[in-house]
Amino acid sequence: MDINSQENSIINTKLDQMLQSTLPALGIDLGGTKISCGLVSNYKLVSEPKQYKTPKGSANILDQLYKIIEEYKAKNLIAGVGVATAGIVDTTSGTVIDSTFNLPGWAGTNIKQYLEPKTMLPIHVENDANAAAYGEFKSKFQNHNLSTIVVTLGTGIGGGIILNGQIFHGENYAAGEIGHLKISFENKRLCTCGHFDCWEAYGSGPGLLKTTKELLSEVNSSQSVLYENINDLSTSHIIQAIENNDFLAKKAFDLWHHHVSIGLVTIAQILNPRTFIISGGMSPFVNYTLLQEMVIDKALAKVAQNLEIHQSRLGIHAGIIGAGQIALDAIILPKNY
Ligand SMILES: [Zn+2]
Repeated sequence: MDINSQENSIINTKLDQMLQSTLPALGIDLGGTKISCGLVSNYKLVSEPKQYKTPKGSANILDQLYKIIEEYKAKNLIAGVGVATAGIVDTTSGTVIDSTFNLPGWAGTNIKQYLEPKTMLPIHVENDANAAAYGEFKSKFQNHNLSTIVVTLGTGIGGGIILNGQIFHGENYAAGEIGHLKISFENKRLCTCGHFDCWEAYGSGPGLLKTTKELLSEVNSSQSVLYENINDLSTSHIIQAIENNDFLAKKAFDLWHHHVSIGLVTIAQILNPRTFIISGGMSPFVNYTLLQEMVIDKALAKVAQNLEIHQSRLGIHAGIIGAGQIALDAIILPKNY
């Protein structure tokens, strides 16, 4: 190649990058029951999100993903595609290396290898919790190289770790399983994973219910309105009882914040993040001032300095936005990928 054609080739590559960096990416969040997707630009959705039913079997899922991408391609110019999927993902090859019971047979599927040649678009695959964490992080901090841990409090506890602005994957792409941190050593409460005293056995929604039932067993029926619903106790019963100044409900809720804070302090001591972002079904019920005070009280001074705890701002769309933004950043910030 002579100098002129080399220069032309560099100019063309730069033009391609400039053009691509102004286009949106398609973000796809693949779950066990539905596939959600939308166009993403500048850390937010720029099209109304759509939903499709997740078909059964890996071949049908791949085909459905291909059809969705083609549908978007027919109506829009897109820079690339990010796919957030349940399961552990080798992000270099774009392969699901371990799956969950929600997607049987999905482990071993190379999503990138299947979709890239068919769609002629760059495809980036990421674990769904990591993609959601990246979306939350980017929407709040854009390109700042801060460290943030996104903690999902729901029926379990999940998470995504962003270190210096990048997703931390760990040795086998399995980092971020923070729900199974041990917060006690007395073998008191069995976790869904088969081990005792994991953080999620205490800090999840079911953890709060268990704590409340333990407290109820120590008092008589006249001491809490929650006795009326003891057989079908739910989080909303507890929240309602707090609003009615029920002493036991308040005690259970404070104890739940204490349990959540213990896991957060443990993570903070290891990683010294700037922020925790709390998402998931329990996140609207958190008293963020109380939780932040509890964490700062238990942490070393330098770990606690400037540490903040925020509620998620993206809600159920975090996975789509994170997946789309990963595809965009692979063009805009290629050194990160
Ligand atoms: Zn566990």
